[in-house]
Amino acid sequence: MTDNRIRDIVIVGGGTAGWMAAAALSRVLAGGGIRIRLIESEAIGTVGVGEATIPHIRYFNRLLGLDENDFVRRTAATFKLGIEFVDWGRLGDRYIHPFGSYGQEMEGLHFHHFWYRYAQGGGMLPLDRFSIGIGAARAGRFQRPDGARADTPLATLSYAFQFDAARYARYLRERAEASGVERIEGRITDIRLNGETGHVETVLLEGERSVDGDLFIDCSGFRGLLIEGALATGYDDWRHWLPCDRAVARACRRLGDPAPFTRATAKAAGWQWRIPLQSRTGNGHVYCSDNLSDDAALAVLDAGLDGEAISDPNFLRFTTGARRKVWNRNVVSLGLAAGFLEPLESTSIHLIQSGIARLLTNFPDRGFNQHDIDYYNRRTRAEYEQVRDFLILHYKATQRDDTPFWNYCRTMPIPATLEERIAIFRENARLYRHDNELFSETSWLAVLHGQHIAPARYHPIAGFLPDAELESRMNRIAAAMDAGVAGMPAHMAFIERYCRADAA
Ligand code: FAD
Repeated sequence: MTDNRIRDIVIVGGGTAGWMAAAALSRVLAGGGIRIRLIESEAIGTVGVGEATIPHIRYFNRLLGLDENDFVRRTAATFKLGIEFVDWGRLGDRYIHPFGSYGQEMEGLHFHHFWYRYAQGGGMLPLDRFSIGIGAARAGRFQRPDGARADTPLATLSYAFQFDAARYARYLRERAEASGVERIEGRITDIRLNGETGHVETVLLEGERSVDGDLFIDCSGFRGLLIEGALATGYDDWRHWLPCDRAVARACRRLGDPAPFTRATAKAAGWQWRIPLQSRTGNGHVYCSDNLSDDAALAVLDAGLDGEAISDPNFLRFTTGARRKVWNRNVVSLGLAAGFLEPLESTSIHLIQSGIARLLTNFPDRGFNQHDIDYYNRRTRAEYEQVRDFLILHYKATQRDDTPFWNYCRTMPIPATLEERIAIFRENARLYRHDNELFSETSWLAVLHGQHIAPARYHPIAGFLPDAELESRMNRIAAAMDAGVAGMPAHMAFIERYCRADAA
């Protein structure tokens, strides 16, 4: 039998995607006799943003065997309990999309059915009171989930991180190099394909160097050097649903303790992020170039900074959408080379992580089984479309009519998949999570409710509980949430105690 095993993996690009792939593959494939090389060009640099994450990154950290306190310290990270959305549904609105869940399941149903019944019957406690994540975020408190107190909301806390992207890439690089990944510095100037198979065979670098491989991982950023530049795979443009196509980012000095959440404030033609780190605050304005010039976008960003700006503005252009096939022949694209969904829900790093996990599940040999590749592409496309629909919801579910941008978003046609979800929810509060998709019922509920989409009815079984029992359960759950929050340390005190970053 011929040995068809992959022997040589070449990762093109050393941004977050490239180093995440290098760190994970070198750890999981250790002992398999596979050489892993990563090519990057300091002259080209990286996109330099990407600081907010979602809780799934903790699985990735576990896969890498990271010590979490060390990781937080080294990346100057803070903890994130959710995202606060300001001015999205209407000007003056403010709601938090929390990680974790609301309340607790009752009679086999999601909590929110009972809450809608309670609220429709005149109950006064708002939905937010039933999320420990929201309570802690608003109080500026944090602790890790407490598994020993399974009967309290503390067990259900969920969190992610907000970190310095440059430190994160350096941290992963250290780990990857320690596990044997070879880094090659240089600019790729050309790519050679095999005349028969059309597979990428060699990448050529300046200085007449070349690198051959069996499997190429394209992490070259928006350029998509291999997947698009060499293989012309094609890209689906989703700007008609997600019209923002530019961003300007800059850091500012941090005033006060960092909040344990990211903020996304809607603006006239887009939105502005605020990501508090230990070392500074990251900010950016994502906008639609049809409605706003770059100069005006920078002026809006600067006007919304908490403290003095400490970096130059970094202008970025993007096309929201997805590569038609993220895996084409012997090239798997990850990160910005695979597609881009704007950072409103901090999903890009997660999409890199799930691409890596899927690649490991479908890890090829040099025969490159087309069924595996097709499966990989189908699953990836489904994931992108599910996240896309969730993002579109934030724009569509607005009542704002104060600018042409919001008028467009409010009235634009949306994908049928999203239309159906909203219609079902409006009718009877039912929310479905398809195929274990990324965003759970909690997430959909947070945004639908936060942006004034209310159901006419609730699940009929939620009507079976006697009124007094419902009232008493609601009071009990809210009190347990309050007690949980009251017992937590301040976010900054937690950091000081366990994972304070070095000043450098
Ligand atoms: P890049 O960082 O662009 O890296 C590309 C690499 O390829 C570089 O090393 C470059 O040197 C190399 N390269 C390119 N061409 C060549 C060549 N010819 N020769 C050699 N090397 C080459 N994600 C989140 O999860 N959370 C967020 O909060 C978030 N915010 C974002 C905000 C904005 C405005 C944008 C645009 C993105 C954001 N993202 C966020 C996405 C996140 O930044 C990216 O997913 C992540 O940084 C991965 O980028 P990358 O590694 O694919 O590309």
